[in-house]
Amino acid sequence: MSEQHWIDLRSDTVTQPSQAMRAAMAAAEVGDDVYGDDPTVNRLQDYAADLFGYEAGLFAPSGTQTNLIALMTHCGRGDEYLVGQEAHTYKYEGGGAAVLGSIQPQPIANQPDGSILLSDIEAYIKPDDMHFARTRLLALENTIGGRVLGQDYVAAATALAHAKGLATHLDGARVCNAAVKQGLSLREVMQGFDTVSVCLSKGLGAPVGSVLLGPKGFIEQGKRWRKMLGGGMRQAGVIAAAAHYALEHNVQRLAQDHENAATLARGLGEIDALSVSAPQTNIFWLDVPAAACAPLRKALAEQGIRATVGPRMRIVTHLDVSAADVARTVAAFQSFFKDWRA
Ligand SMILES: *Cc1c(COP(=O)(O)O)cnc(C)c1O
Repeated sequence: MSEQHWIDLRSDTVTQPSQAMRAAMAAAEVGDDVYGDDPTVNRLQDYAADLFGYEAGLFAPSGTQTNLIALMTHCGRGDEYLVGQEAHTYKYEGGGAAVLGSIQPQPIANQPDGSILLSDIEAYIKPDDMHFARTRLLALENTIGGRVLGQDYVAAATALAHAKGLATHLDGARVCNAAVKQGLSLREVMQGFDTVSVCLSKGLGAPVGSVLLGPKGFIEQGKRWRKMLGGGMRQAGVIAAAAHYALEHNVQRLAQDHENAATLARGLGEIDALSVSAPQTNIFWLDVPAAACAPLRKALAEQGIRATVGPRMRIVTHLDVSAADVARTVAAFQSFFKDWRA
């Protein structure tokens, strides 16, 4: 594999900034963003807010931080948020809302399509009673594990939350994938959410950063939490320029990642030993016989393919995985399973 590049299917966080993105970073005009002086950060925040249909935006180093800022701004000590069992904010952010925000999560089962039943949302909202935490917020995630929440569901869930006096937050780490998949604008896919966190460092291809979007007053309060959490950055225009470039150039091309995921899933699905779930966007799951995992990991590495190999493995396509890479990956799996016996 010496002259061939690595194919990395572990995550869409592994993308490398392109030459054009690096040029935008090199040319960025910068200032001290804690003073509000960085013109590139300010432009990014305004641009993202307008693009997604919000009043204001806040740039932060990670999606974990933009989600936490949102939770801490929506909820105070002794408040509670409703969230899916499988949600990133609940399961994959170190319990930050509880640890740092004194906010109680109320996790609720996700359905196979990633949604949370409306009847469950309603049932878990606590009455006003001193025994209970105060239920303040519904947090959803779209896409969730690569699955798209349908617009009808989102409209019904957010309307229910608002009718019950809750605020709504979207962990939209991959919401651009959801928009592109459904042929919706970024504004349309946000309908119903008071605030949203969007990752620029996933499939959009920026090296670092997420934006939190919401009403002006909310973002002002969020800025205080960002500083406390250590997210007040100085000449951050260097990375904001990459984030801006990603939003301008890399949204519509997510369709290619979805197509590559579909082609890869079809190819792998033809191998008898594997069971593949059809992808909706750029993420899908593959069931691999347990005994095959260790030798498969080795065989793929020898072919220049990085993957998180396991009995239930996640495969992710992104802007550094081409159609040719998909073909090379299918060939590597075929060649391994041709000779493999349980
Ligand atoms: C990646 C991700 C985040 C934020 O992760 P960071 O690595 O902190 O940027 C949040 N939610 C979801 C669904 C994600 O996939």
